Amino acid sequence: MKLLYNIEDIALIHPEKLAFISTNKEISYGDLWNQSERFAGFFHGLKLKNASPILVYGHMEPEMLIAFLGSVKAGHPYIPVDTSIPLERIIKILESSKAELLVNLSGSPLPIDQESIRIISLEEIESFHFNGKTSPDNWVRDDENFYIIYTSGSTGNPKGVQISASNLQSFTDWMRKDFPINNGLRFLNQAPFSFDLSVMDLYPALASGGTLFAITKEMIAKPKILFEELKKSNVQVWTSTPSFVQMCLMDPSFNEGLLPELRVFLFCGEILPAIISRQLKERFPKAAVYNTYGPTEATVAVTSVEVTEEILERYPALPVGQPKSDTRLLLLDENGTEVLEGEKGEIVIVGPSVSKGYLGLPEINEKAFYSQDGQMAYRTGDAGYMENGLLFYKGRMDFQIKLHGYRMELEEIEHQIAKSQYVKAAVVIPVTQNEKIEYLMAAIVPAEHSFEKEFQLTATIKKELSEVLPAYMIPRKFTYRDALPMTANGKVDRKLIREKVLL
Ligand code: AMP
Repeated sequence: MKLLYNIEDIALIHPEKLAFISTNKEISYGDLWNQSERFAGFFHGLKLKNASPILVYGHMEPEMLIAFLGSVKAGHPYIPVDTSIPLERIIKILESSKAELLVNLSGSPLPIDQESIRIISLEEIESFHFNGKTSPDNWVRDDENFYIIYTSGSTGNPKGVQISASNLQSFTDWMRKDFPINNGLRFLNQAPFSFDLSVMDLYPALASGGTLFAITKEMIAKPKILFEELKKSNVQVWTSTPSFVQMCLMDPSFNEGLLPELRVFLFCGEILPAIISRQLKERFPKAAVYNTYGPTEATVAVTSVEVTEEILERYPALPVGQPKSDTRLLLLDENGTEVLEGEKGEIVIVGPSVSKGYLGLPEINEKAFYSQDGQMAYRTGDAGYMENGLLFYKGRMDFQIKLHGYRMELEEIEHQIAKSQYVKAAVVIPVTQNEKIEYLMAAIVPAEHSFEKEFQLTATIKKELSEVLPAYMIPRKFTYRDALPMTANGKVDRKLIREKVLL
């Protein structure tokens, strides 16, 4: 696979060049390459089933990258799992993926007691002696899975999106061709590796000899430290959700003085408000701002547009751009017929970066993926329209949402709340301000309980939820009702609940 050869070349020609910097730990290309050889040798020796995935658990340690490359060099895809994911969800991922190996890089033990899974620590791999070299014949290639990223699923279980070596190659080629990011630059790495936004900086940076500077959750929790680290980072390419940059913009010192070399902002994952683009252009006059669009299922992003003055003037709601040259977008009505230019339809992505589907979920795959003219097509569930060759995003057609940049299915949260013994029925409502979701509210019909006060009931349910859902999926507010209102056709009337909540 070209991408791996690119990284190897940089490791050979510039072994000292830094590949990744994270909280006072850094790794050069030479070390990344050589240590991933050792990891691969170790994985190979375990005689795992052919192409069985390796779960890599940690936050933003340099060893995460070593383990990713080690897996694919040993012929196995990796599943990146961030430490923000609770134990029960990890167990679900292990069950769904049938992974036999979990590499725990978090430094804390993981109390998983399952015979089918072997858990190994960094120390175990580091004590393994391997002086050989992996054979490129064993490396993951073509249609074989490179990584599997788990996203929220409406049935209550996360879904594993399979991304192949060719999916990733198509994405990385596009990034290097269509964006000015190609000369060994310094990239911000804001998204943890279990979110596909991280792929937007990780592989374009590694393929072009760039250096990644990681922003950890500890930094994000303390704005003072975050800004000190940003200053140190001196990044040239910024990749984040619009929500993250919006948080940074609240501080007036977030400007060219803080990051004098910043030249490119890349956004993906949620609506990029025009006002944020304007502020960025004012505070960073030398930087270009790009809006990109795409789901994990099509390898991060498939459209892009540079937000120029002209675009800002012309479109109060920004477009998400033009598709990459190897990809086609279809806008289909409910009968599967293409709509006319300017009309709204479901966005379907057809091209080489579209995944072969979710791991082990044939029924969901049948609805969401199909093959067209020898290429994979994905029904995104996003609504949009085309105008002047540009795609415009018009919201979701289901209950998937983005909250502060995180993707989630409201039905998955509802499913988990409904499992509580204290709950008869539950519905989760996004509460919006200026069309942006600010937080989630759970409307609950409680079951019998002996709590004196509602806040005690809420705290108990929240505690239960924290064992199965990441913190960002737990509703901030809870409201209790005797019954949930129904629509005429017998569905929960979410609209009415939302109106009542906002009163
Ligand atoms: P994820 O798989 O986490 O990248 O989430 C994909 C979803 O995020 C898409 O299906 C869209 O609903 C939304 N999304 C991605 N990029 C954009 C964008 N530039 N503008 C608006 N929504 C976006």
